[in-house]
Amino acid sequence: MRIDIVSIFPDYLEPLRLSLVGKAVEGGVIDLHVHDLRSFAHDRHHTVDDTPYGGGPGMVMSPTPWGEALDCIAGADAAGRPVLIIPTPSGERFTQQAAQQWSRDDWLVFACGRYEGIDTRVMEHYARRSDWAGVREVSLGDYVLAGGEAAALVVIEAVVRLIPGVLGNSASVEDDSFAPGAMEQLLEGPVYTKPPVWRDLSIPEVLLSGHHGKIASWRADQARARTKAHRPDLFR
Ligand code: SAM
Repeated sequence: MRIDIVSIFPDYLEPLRLSLVGKAVEGGVIDLHVHDLRSFAHDRHHTVDDTPYGGGPGMVMSPTPWGEALDCIAGADAAGRPVLIIPTPSGERFTQQAAQQWSRDDWLVFACGRYEGIDTRVMEHYARRSDWAGVREVSLGDYVLAGGEAAALVVIEAVVRLIPGVLGNSASVEDDSFAPGAMEQLLEGPVYTKPPVWRDLSIPEVLLSGHHGKIASWRADQARARTKAHRPDLFR
């Protein structure tokens, strides 16, 4: 999979060189490209923002460097059609389902906004372009971050760990909270490891029973109880 990220803070994306995603990049599963939006702004100060039409506080990111950056990334000789992902608090909620869908795509481009966000015409323009595979505006949740970089890191990690071969044990994805199938509307229950007693707290007896059926049924009960307690909105 190819991943491009455009930001005015390219160093913010350095954590993508670490851990699970870093290994996927090193191993060639991910072809990662980070671009500095300012290199597509040609005035002396490499300006990427301007005052909002209609007035109001803050600055808006100009469509001009964005258009140039995105056209340069997916130029005429591009091999494939990228999906443009734009993190924004006003987008649709990012979910495990979206992560699953994007883990099957060949090419994702992330546009990281700052200030009051990106001029809306950028989204409109690339949604109409047949050489792009669509635009998805996604929100991490009901709060406001200072920029799209942290959101892009989150989305990329959620997507990359679902690509076959990236996780050492692919079965762990199947038991995750929100995994398709039995866990789709559930949170994973509590997990334990050795030692069996830690600071007067023992692990539940059933986990030592070796009885796979009883353990599976206990885990399902725990998942339901936790979902009901922490996320009643998911519980059916
Ligand atoms: N004025 C915008 C609004 O109220 O919708 C907020 C802009 S925010 C200060 C700057 C950038 O941070 C956004 O363009 C987006 O890239 C990112 N951002 C902030 N909150 C986010 C969230 N909940 N999910 C995804 N991205 C977010």
